[in-house]
Amino acid sequence: MAVVVFGSINMDMVARVARLPRPGETVPGESFATAPGGKGANQAVAAARLGAPTRMVGRVGDDVFGVALRDGLAAEGVDTAAVVATPGPSGVAAISVDAAGENTIVVVPGANGAVGAEDVARLEAALVGARALLLQLEVPLPAVVAAARAARARGVTVILDPAPARPLPAELYPLADIITPNAIEAAALVGFPLDGEAAARRAGRELRGRTGGAAIVKLGARGALVCDATGETFAPAFPVTAVDTVAAGDAFNGGLAAALCAGLPFAQALRWALAAGALAVTRPGAQTAMPTHAELLALL
Ligand code: ADP
Repeated sequence: MAVVVFGSINMDMVARVARLPRPGETVPGESFATAPGGKGANQAVAAARLGAPTRMVGRVGDDVFGVALRDGLAAEGVDTAAVVATPGPSGVAAISVDAAGENTIVVVPGANGAVGAEDVARLEAALVGARALLLQLEVPLPAVVAAARAARARGVTVILDPAPARPLPAELYPLADIITPNAIEAAALVGFPLDGEAAARRAGRELRGRTGGAAIVKLGARGALVCDATGETFAPAFPVTAVDTVAAGDAFNGGLAAALCAGLPFAQALRWALAAGALAVTRPGAQTAMPTHAELLALL
């Protein structure tokens, strides 16, 4: 069985500055680096490093970043047969981080914005022999809905990460077997803040009701709240020393899918997800921070 990811592929461009510029101002930067990102690609790398045969469906641009992004995924063992180059620039995130860790981020969808019906057609082939489909919201919503529908029709488990926060079409919820917002995304979807345990439970119940499957609310260092037919359960996080929480949520979803792909039951898959999220925060970066199967087993 395989994990299939339908989603975004980005190049992150990170400049470190002493302080962020004001509008119209130029400041000297201290360092610059590029790193592959995008929620879709991050989740694909997370699943692949944990040993799941992983197929990526998405688009890169016909620029230098596109070649690097596709080669980078392949080097991580991700099947990129369904990653196509589309005319124009690759998706990019231009990130500035100041000395205090405060940041500004501009995300330009580029090729990700062209994901549509043709990609869903390529997804159909990729879904053969798949256990789970990982979806996020960095590609156009009509394509996300069509992708979820294609997976459901084949009995492939749909894991929907409603990130970044944006309103969801009502038709998408019932297509998700598992919806996995973090606290901010959950609040945006239910319309009230998750300012305590009771509110988190209420939000989880509400979101589970919309899906008809399960909801997992990711709560950072507190772990996750799992809502399914049996009720709501808090699953504590693995205690680790966090150095950089970037892409913790992507590690969590990759871990969940990889475990299901390995034939593990839901309770065990949840432990893989929590462990993958915890390990990812112990290291800087997005894809570079994703744990290997051996590291995960050591923590478990
Ligand atoms: P996102 O990255 O989407 O904002 P979270 O910050 O909630 O999502 O992190 C996702 C998951 O990663 C959490 O549910 C938790 O399992 C794990 N995680 C995040 N931060 C920590 C931490 N400081 N210690 C241990 N686990 C963490």
